[in-house]
This record gives sequence, C-alpha cells and structure tokens, in this order.
Amino acid sequence: MKPFQIFNTLTRKVEEFIPLNPPLATMYSCGPTVYLPQHLGNMRAYLFVDTLKRAMRLHGYDVRHVMNITDVGHMTSDEDEGEDKIEKTARAQGKSPLEIANFYIAQFQRDLAALNIEPPMNYTRATDHIGDMIVLIQRIIDHGYAYVTNSGVYFEVEKWRGPDRIGRLSRQSLDEQHAGQRLDHSTDKKNPHDFALWVLNQPSHIMQWESPWGRGYPGWHIECSAMSIRYLGETIDLHTGGLDHIPIHHENEIAQSESATGHPFVRYFVHNAFLLGMEGAKISKSAGKFPLVDDLTAAGIDPLAFRLFCFGAKYRSELAFSLESARGAQKNLEYFWEFAYALPDDAAAAAADSDWALDYERNFAAALADDLNTPRALAVALDLVGEAYRRQDRKIWHSLRRLDSVLGLGLEERRLAAQAQFPETVRKLRSERDAARAAKDFQRSDELRLRIIAEGYEVKDTPGGTLISPRRASLS
Ligand SMILES: [Zn+2]
Repeated sequence: MKPFQIFNTLTRKVEEFIPLNPPLATMYSCGPTVYLPQHLGNMRAYLFVDTLKRAMRLHGYDVRHVMNITDVGHMTSDEDEGEDKIEKTARAQGKSPLEIANFYIAQFQRDLAALNIEPPMNYTRATDHIGDMIVLIQRIIDHGYAYVTNSGVYFEVEKWRGPDRIGRLSRQSLDEQHAGQRLDHSTDKKNPHDFALWVLNQPSHIMQWESPWGRGYPGWHIECSAMSIRYLGETIDLHTGGLDHIPIHHENEIAQSESATGHPFVRYFVHNAFLLGMEGAKISKSAGKFPLVDDLTAAGIDPLAFRLFCFGAKYRSELAFSLESARGAQKNLEYFWEFAYALPDDAAAAAADSDWALDYERNFAAALADDLNTPRALAVALDLVGEAYRRQDRKIWHSLRRLDSVLGLGLEERRLAAQAQFPETVRKLRSERDAARAAKDFQRSDELRLRIIAEGYEVKDTPGGTLISPRRASLS
C-alpha cells in the first residue's frame, strides 16, 4: 500500500488514511431512495464514490464496499414527518411499493453502468434487512438509549449528550441541525429531536413487519447502521455521503451505532459537495426536474463525458453543470478514444512502455493520493497523451491503461472494439502505412492509403497515426 490522504469530516482535516485491517479498507455509502430516477446531481455522488474506490485500489487497498438501497421508511421530510416516499409514488401510479422500488433500482443500475461505475460488493435493500434492524434497535433499548411508546420506538437524544456525541460530526446543536425542518411534535416523544427507530400503529402504511414492539416499519436512519454492521463490522474505515447527510442522517447513524456497540462507528467520514444547476440551484434530492443520464444521451453527449466532467473538479467543491460544459468534457473523452483507436495492433499495445511515461503515472497517483485531486490527475493524463504525440512515441499504453483503471473510460475495450471492426488485411496495411510515414517515405505511404481506400475504408491522418474509417457512431 502507498500513502493516501483524504479529508475527514470528523476532524475537518486532510489525514493520512490508516484502515483498521490493512490492506482491507471497508467502505459504506448511503445509496438512493428508489422512488424517482436518480439525476446527475445524485450521479456525481456515486461517481465520487467510484473514483475514491478505484484510486484506493490503485494505491494497493482491497476495498470492500457496500451501498444501501432505501425501499422503505424514508419519509417525504427527512424527519419522521409526512408519507413514505415510495408508498406515495406507488399510490400515485397505482402500483405496489415493490414494483416502484424494482423499477427505479433497474433504472439506477442501468445509469450506473452507462457511467462505468463499478457496482459495490453488495447492494443491500432495506426491506431485506428488517431482522438486522430489529436486533440493533433491541441493543439500543437494552443500553438505555431508546424507549417504546404507542406510536413507535424512539432514540432518546438527551441520553446521547456528552463529549464526542451530539453534533460531533456536524459541529451543530440539535436546533441548528434541524433548522428549517418541520419536527413531529408527537406527544409520545420525550423531546421533539428524538427520532424514530421503529414506527407503530400507522395502519395506512402498506409495508409492515412484526417486531417485539408490535407491527410496524423502520425509521429511515436505522438501516444504514444495521447494514454496515452486518456486512462491514462494528467499526468501518470509510463512510461516504453527500454534504446534506452530515446533520441528522449521519449524526443519527453515529448515535444509533455507537450506543448499540460501544465502539467508534466510522474512522473517516468523507462527503461530496453538490452539483449546481444552470441557475446555480443545488441539485439535491427531490428538488424538481434536474437532468438525467438520458438527457445527456438525448443531447448527443456520451455519459462517460459526464464522468470526465466530474473528474475536472475536486469532490469537495461545488460544480456547475451545463450541457455546454459536458460537451467540453466530451472533447477530452474523444481525445483519449482517438489515441486508443489509432493504436495499430495488439503488438503495438503490448510493447513495453517508454521510460518517460512512468513519471506521468507517478504524478497521476500522487495527485489522487492528495485528497483525491482529480483535476490535477486529469491534467496529467491529458499531458501523457499529448507528450506521446509530441514525441511521436506511442509506447505508453500500459501506463495509460493503469490511469484508466481510475478514469474509467474503458480505453482497452475501445481499442479492441476498434480493432475488431477491421479485417486483418486492413490492419496490416495500416501498420505498414504508419511505418512508412514514420520513415518519411511518403510515396509508399500514399500507395498504402489508396490500397486501404480500395478495401472500402476511409483514411484519416491523426497525430496518433493512421485512423481508418472510425465508424465512431457505432462505438459510442
Ligand atoms: Zn445512510
């Protein structure tokens, strides 16, 4: 493993990452509530998680990653108020909550694939882990931090006061954390800030399960504590989420987990900033109509261009989205692709790299190890290709592929797809023509050009070499 530094929201500092059991790094990410399509603002968060995971792997860590899918218990307010989001959509569309959840999970996974985001080790669905939640709630009750009433089981926040407890992550008082939220003033609660672990006696709620306290359903926060403990242990190395998760959701996760286990819940909390809409509005959850992955493709932009667009800003900075800026990123994407398309054959791809490429690889890794500085890493990757053109030395493929293990542009797949489009004879002619051009034998190069055209292909000269009838539309 090589050193890796990351900003820890718990300490508000960039820190050396030291996992509990190296080289294992356990990571839990708060995932989607599946009642709407996930828009590009949500996708930025998942891209950040994917990049962090890939960068840590590049540095020798074995990342074990779990992401939850909320399919019950998330109310229309992040407090315990309102309707269950999934049930509300189900009623509006005349479908079952399960149908709604399955539909949006499929759409979410399709969009992740389009962005080349690696799936986690487990997608854990809340409704598959009700038993784990019940066991955890019982531990919290047994330790004296929760109480049972007619309307539900509540976490008693007053009991959770003290150093390193309430407000440890957000550095806010309870009132500040809940500012602007409508609190449920159920007379059953000892304090309006108490939050539901289990909800009872709500006959209109469709999804209900038996529990030691009666039929009901879980509160929103408990699922993350229960599922991260189940799959990653009582103390996890990394926990990710959006900045909006810091007050309330992540504070509550810490309270639930640590009151139950008596151990620190998370070693490094890492949060990503928002994507801004064209009007500067925060693209956060459920805030109206924001663009989707489908909107990119409809505008002729490859979803992988959005990947590069996000790579161009630090994860802790807000990033303003527009179709124009995504188009700008598409130019960089095509720059990388063109290099891959123009590699003449497998032998050229397999050739040992030139020594100078290694410096670029080191600088790329160093940028990522510096609190995931993706803009600097991207600049290094673009420079590596630029330098190959300047030197007319394309022997960088091994380095570029290692960079692409984090960039996630699928360059090797592109190269193979481009190769597979051309018959062996045409590929041979292209290699010969590249050799003739390198030797400045322009007469021979022109002859070979005509022979390639005679085979039914177009020929374009690029700094990377001969590009033959790219047929890029079918590749992208
Ligand atoms: Zn969560």
